[in-house]
Amino acid sequence: MKDLVIIGAGPAGLTAGLYAARARMDAVLLERMAPGGQILNTEMVENYPGFPDGITGFELVDRMKKQAERFGIDIETREVLGLELAHERKLVRTDKGEMEAKALILACGASPRKLGIEGEELLIGKGVSYCATCDGAFYRDQEVAVIGGGDTAVEEAVFLTRFASKVYLIHRRDKLRAAKVIQEKAMKQEKIEFVWNTIPKRITGSAGVDGLDLEDVRTGRKWHLPVQGVFVLIGYIPNSQLVKGLLELDPQGFVITNQDMETSVPGVFAAGDIRSKLLRQVSTAVGEGATAAVAAEKFIEAD
Ligand code: NAP
Repeated sequence: MKDLVIIGAGPAGLTAGLYAARARMDAVLLERMAPGGQILNTEMVENYPGFPDGITGFELVDRMKKQAERFGIDIETREVLGLELAHERKLVRTDKGEMEAKALILACGASPRKLGIEGEELLIGKGVSYCATCDGAFYRDQEVAVIGGGDTAVEEAVFLTRFASKVYLIHRRDKLRAAKVIQEKAMKQEKIEFVWNTIPKRITGSAGVDGLDLEDVRTGRKWHLPVQGVFVLIGYIPNSQLVKGLLELDPQGFVITNQDMETSVPGVFAAGDIRSKLLRQVSTAVGEGATAAVAAEKFIEAD
C-alpha cells in the first residue's frame, strides 16, 4: 500500500512528486508516456518566472523531473486503466497490475480538442496535426492553415513562419482570444494572413492534405483554400474519462476541487490542466501540484 499515487507527470504531477518526496511520503508518480505532458509541445516558455530569456518546454520539464528525482520520487511508466474510489483505500488498476493508495493526485492534464469535421480523422499524420512544435518542420516552403484564435493557435502560427512560406490563421470570430503580447508578435509577421469569421467545414485530400473547405459565418460564403498542412489548435478537453461518474466534474468535464485541491471524494486531489479553473499555465500547475501534495500529506496524517 502506497501513501500516495500521483497520476500524470506534467508540471503539476512532477511538482506534487517533488513535494511528496521531500515530505518522505511513500509516493509513486505514474506516467503512461515520457514525463512532460503538453508543455513538451511548446517550443519556448516565456511566461514561467525565473527564466527571463525563456526556456524550452523540454528543458523546463527535464529540470523539474531531475529535481523531483533528486529527492527520491519514484517515476513509473504505467497506464492507469481504472480507479475505484468508493472505499478508504483507493484502488488504481494499471496495465502492469493493481496498486492501493491512501491518497491520489490526478494530474492527467488535457488532450487537444478535435474539430470533428470530414477528412480530419482520415488525414491525421498526413497533413492534419495538433502540435506545431512536433510537425512544423515538415512544412518547409509550404502553405499551412492554423485553426483557432487562442494563445496556442496564435503562438504556434508565429512558430510555423520559420518553416512555412505562408500561414493562414483561421478564426471563427473577428477578435483573437490570445494574450495581447502574443497577438502583437503575430500581427508583425508578414507570412501570417488572418482569415476572420471563418470555420472549416471539411479537410480535403486523400494521400495527404490538399486544402480546406471554409465557410464565412457571417455571409455563408463557401470557399476552398489550398494548403498542405492543417494545424488544429482549438483548445483542450480534460483527461478525466477515468473519473467520470466518480468525481464531481464541471459541464466541460474538468474536475472540480476546492482551494486545497480536494475533489468531491476525500483523499482524491487534482492539480493542473485537468482542474476546473481560470488559467491553465505551467505557473498555475506547479502551485496546484505543491498544494495537492501537502493536502494529501495532511489527509493521510489525519487518518
Ligand atoms: P483556448 O484558449 O480555449 O482557445 C481555443 C480557441 O479555439 C479559441 O479562439 C476558440 O474560439 C477556438 N475554437 C474552439 N473550438 C473551436 C471550433 N470547434 N472551431 C473553431 N474554433 C474553435 O485554447 P488554447 O489556445 O489552446 O489555450 C489553452 C490554455 O492554455 C489557455 O488557458 C491558454 O492561456 C494556455 N496557453 C498559454 C500559453 C502562453 O501563456 N504562452 C500558450 C498556449 C496556451 P473563440 O475564441 O471564439 O472561443
